[in-house]
Amino acid sequence: MSSTLSVLEPATEEVLAEIPRAGVEQVDEAVAAATAALPAWRALDPGARARLLHALADNLAAHTEELAVTEARNAGKAIADARGEMQMVRDTFRYYAGAPERLLGDTIPVAGGQAFTVREPVGVVGLITPWNFPLAIAAWKLGPALAAGNTVVLKPAELTPLTALRFAELAVEAGLPEGVVNVVVGPGSTCGARLVEHPGVAKIAFTGSTEVGRSIAAGAAQTIKRVTLELGGKSANVVFADADLEAAATAAPLAVFGNAGQDCCARSRILVQAEAMDEFMGHLESAVRALRVGDPLDEDTQMGPLISAGQRETVASFLEDDVNVAFRGSAPEGPGFWFAPTVLCPAAPGDRAVREEIFGPIATVIPFRDEAEAIVLANDTIYGLSGSIWTRDGARALRVARALQTGVLSINSNSSVRVTTPFGGFKQSGYGRELGPHALDAYTELKTIYYATEE
Ligand code: NAD
Repeated sequence: MSSTLSVLEPATEEVLAEIPRAGVEQVDEAVAAATAALPAWRALDPGARARLLHALADNLAAHTEELAVTEARNAGKAIADARGEMQMVRDTFRYYAGAPERLLGDTIPVAGGQAFTVREPVGVVGLITPWNFPLAIAAWKLGPALAAGNTVVLKPAELTPLTALRFAELAVEAGLPEGVVNVVVGPGSTCGARLVEHPGVAKIAFTGSTEVGRSIAAGAAQTIKRVTLELGGKSANVVFADADLEAAATAAPLAVFGNAGQDCCARSRILVQAEAMDEFMGHLESAVRALRVGDPLDEDTQMGPLISAGQRETVASFLEDDVNVAFRGSAPEGPGFWFAPTVLCPAAPGDRAVREEIFGPIATVIPFRDEAEAIVLANDTIYGLSGSIWTRDGARALRVARALQTGVLSINSNSSVRVTTPFGGFKQSGYGRELGPHALDAYTELKTIYYATEE
């Protein structure tokens, strides 16, 4: 394999950068650097670690536009979305800068002395991330990992390594000691796998496909590594007939076609109560046809290209089946991995496009009769990451929200991810939670200390 990696711009298919491609040896060097930096970083007083994370957030804020343009070009995402993601990256460090001084323990009543708990860093943490939200997803892991006193080795996806590399420079500029953040760009099958098997790595935080997640969980079992997995999704957008149908239909396209559908939270199964189907589809068609698909750097763009030729091929294969294409939006012609947003309706629960994560701009619309059937259909998947419920009946919204087997839900909205609230999946969408206060649990070990006080 070549030791140089050509990073492409998906909107033009041109080479954006040529960078060295790491192998197993570089992973071992990065783990050694993280191991050497660990004692001083974990011993730093909590206030000092907090101040360094604030300095990092400041430095990220100062480079928001540069990072957003790099991400938009490298991942092919709309610049407005890329800016939002870079603001989230900054906010994630701001939020976890509050954590070092708030990693609280318990005192527990026991006989003969005092028992109390402390939270300690797990050690060197390996972070393996995908190409769809490159720096944002890395930040969800980096923030709590660093705040808790761990050092890290980040392995970004080979298709989108540029913002991670820049991040490492910005971290050192902000004052983080060398070796605390290490970035290794190389293939998952060698560099990722080495991180998983490395005896010096205490934990793996992974975001990616369910298939690779499965192999990571199996590999980590050899050294009893801690693992958190954020995997695939096939989320349902459940629209009841009493909902504000225009609002639900107008919001639905970006809930599945945002980031060209390459979103683990994509609401790619739109379940619509049968009597509302015609009205809903009318509004949906207008909204899909109005979607602005084009140059990621154009301020008005809402959806860019797919990440790669391979991804476009995979997505297109779903239209080769015997499917009902209701309507499609537009996409540019010429160079770039473009794919027009596509709505399949009616789709049946057994269709491949309904069962598999497409990770591209194809939505399926499935009719349902009543609340009970909506719940059965929504839960009829191996995944359980996200979802939405649209209804004006508050009690029903809460009943359905409790019945859906999914980690994150929105009522009369399609939002999924916030810095301050937990995010993660049920079922084969993974385990562990990122963001919010709970993420720190996954980057710390809980130690119980008993001090005998009897004479
Ligand atoms: P992927 O699983 O192919 O790759 C993810 C990362 O794992 C990459 O860095 C890759 O190099 C690495 N990798 C690949 N094989 C490996 C191995 N054997 N050992 C160790 N590392 C290995 O996923 P992708 O195609 O980059 O991303 C798309 C997938 O990610 C989708 O399934 C999507 O749903 C999922 N995703 C999930 C979330 C979430 O939070 N649940 C968020 C974004 C993306």
